[in-house]
Amino acid sequence: MTVSSPSGDVWRALRAVRSRGQLVALLRAAWQQWLLWLLVALMVLVLLVTVIWLAGRHELEQLQGTLDRDAADAVSDLRSGLQRNVQSVRALQEHQSEATRWSLEAGALLRAHREWLRVEWRDAALQPLAMAETPYRQRLMDNDSRGPAQPDVALACTAARKLGAPAYSPSHFVRLPDGIGLEAMELCVPLDAGGFFVVTYSLRDTLIELIGPSLRRGQEVAFTETDGTRLAVVGAQRRTGTRVFTSQQMVDLPGVTMMLRVDGWRAAPDLFPNVLTGLVTVVSIGLVSALILLARDTRRRLRVESDLADALAFRNAMEDSVITGLRARDLQGRTTYVNAAFCEMVGFSAHELVSASSAAPYWPTELAHEYQTRQTHRLAGDVLPPREGFESVFMRKDGSRFPVLIFEAPLINAQGVQTGWMSAFLDISEQRRVEELSRASQERLQASARLATVGEMASLLSHELTQPLAAISSYATGSLNLLDGMDGATAADLSMAMQRIAQQAGRAGQVIRSVQDFVRRRDRAREAESPQALLDAVLPLIRMQARKLEVRLEVLLEPRLPDVMCDRTLVEQVLLNLARNAMQAMDLPELTQRTLTIRIATEGEGRRWLAFSVADVGAGIDAAVAERLFTPFFTTRSEGMGLGLSLCRTVVEQHGGELSFSANQPRGTIFRFTLPAAGVLPRK
Ligand code: ADP
Repeated sequence: MTVSSPSGDVWRALRAVRSRGQLVALLRAAWQQWLLWLLVALMVLVLLVTVIWLAGRHELEQLQGTLDRDAADAVSDLRSGLQRNVQSVRALQEHQSEATRWSLEAGALLRAHREWLRVEWRDAALQPLAMAETPYRQRLMDNDSRGPAQPDVALACTAARKLGAPAYSPSHFVRLPDGIGLEAMELCVPLDAGGFFVVTYSLRDTLIELIGPSLRRGQEVAFTETDGTRLAVVGAQRRTGTRVFTSQQMVDLPGVTMMLRVDGWRAAPDLFPNVLTGLVTVVSIGLVSALILLARDTRRRLRVESDLADALAFRNAMEDSVITGLRARDLQGRTTYVNAAFCEMVGFSAHELVSASSAAPYWPTELAHEYQTRQTHRLAGDVLPPREGFESVFMRKDGSRFPVLIFEAPLINAQGVQTGWMSAFLDISEQRRVEELSRASQERLQASARLATVGEMASLLSHELTQPLAAISSYATGSLNLLDGMDGATAADLSMAMQRIAQQAGRAGQVIRSVQDFVRRRDRAREAESPQALLDAVLPLIRMQARKLEVRLEVLLEPRLPDVMCDRTLVEQVLLNLARNAMQAMDLPELTQRTLTIRIATEGEGRRWLAFSVADVGAGIDAAVAERLFTPFFTTRSEGMGLGLSLCRTVVEQHGGELSFSANQPRGTIFRFTLPAAGVLPRK
């Protein structure tokens, strides 16, 4: 998978922009997305800084705490040291009786206490009685300057006298002969026998001697005034860190108050001061990395989503534009998807179709069982759907049926597993209608061709027959005229016979005329005739022949038949023709039961048609004869013309009806033709 840069995405999106509104929306969406990420990054940064700062602060507090504890310990060490010193000083009282001995003892004490500079024995008026100096330094003070007026000693001893206990003076500077000096402090211890012992402390040496060396090693330790002025400093001068920690503890002594100040430096760099901060930093780096990965992943997902949305839009557009109905079914036969074209085809909504059970609502009720069986076989994989598709009939929501062509293919998911069937549907009702139309026009064409052939023949015949018929007619009329003058029964018989001859000749002439009219395609006026009347006109002739051929005639008429719209003479001719053919077919010596059945009944929706049928129990029609039955001049009889059926069909078709035949049961043939009922326009 290729990962394009975000700017690449933007360019791709920008190229697809078609309008100003789209551009604004795109930029706004991009800006919002960046803003969101910026906000998240900012929040993470703030969180990290806070955590690191808190960790650092925690460490500082820890360091400060340690320093404070150390300083407090140092102050308590200092106090106990000073207390012990007071006791040592007090021990000198034993030697007050002897001055030399006292000096010796004081010298020994000074050797033991390096922080002491000088020990004095003064009387109650602060006049020095004896003194001893530290052996560790060159002589610091002359005895003159240490008279009763020495202000620091006076201050300490006044306080001691007031308290009745040892007291200290504030620090004072003692100048040394080499120009520099040191800070010192006086301790005045009142004696039981009156007078005082005064000890001069060097502040710096006090720090060195009375405070543990471990404190001094890492830190700078100092005595300061309460206002912060440094009096004496000891300890590390090297500053290893940049950061200074300070702890100040009050050293409250009788007569004086000082501060002990401890300064420490950080040894490690500030950024990774300890494990906690280190850990937090590692976690933070992990968090930021995860965030970056998440951002990349989100971007990739967004791109995939947008590609998917494009593909979906493309698919939807495709589905909506096709006129082919599409339907997907799962392996249980439930519809899982239908497109718009399919819904339109069957008239059901997508919801109605998808929520339906395995019996689809568009299956015609009478065929549902058959379809269900077919579907079960298909789903079980017993039969594969034909590649060229198969035809079926569906039902619309309004109940109307329509033919469809179905193509089916297995539905395979991304894992290569079949999850159902996908089917495409084509509504072929229009195709069917066109086929039907072309078949009808084909038939009409054939009918016209037949008409032309029959027409030619008929005009020839009518021409040939008109003359002899006219002659017969005039001879009959002449004979009748001659008979008029005669009397008797014979004359009456002859007269009737002659009249019949004239009548039949007239009828033949009429037939010929109507054929002529018919051939000339003059639309003869059709009239509403009652079927009974039509039958009555031909029945005497049929009966005559039936008697001759020993045929039993059966006429069956539906009650209250409507009138029929027809050219009466022609239709009578058709009936006569069919009846004659039927009787001739039964003219078989072995046939004992000869029955001719003529039946007239209504047919079709709203009794629109009248169906005439003429049935016999004759030899029937074999396949070879059936093929050529309506061909003009085809006949199987020696005296036959072979024009009868051909003309009959032409006449019936001219009326908009149909002439057909079928086998009669148990034997024989039924000829059947239809004519429109009166009040119904014939089909052209
Ligand atoms: P024709 O009667 O002059 O032979 P048609 O056109 O009326 O001419 O009949 C053609 C042929 O059709 C007949 O020769 C006969 O073989 C056959 N045919 C007609 N009607 C029947 C029928 N009812 N039963 C058996 N054959 C028939």
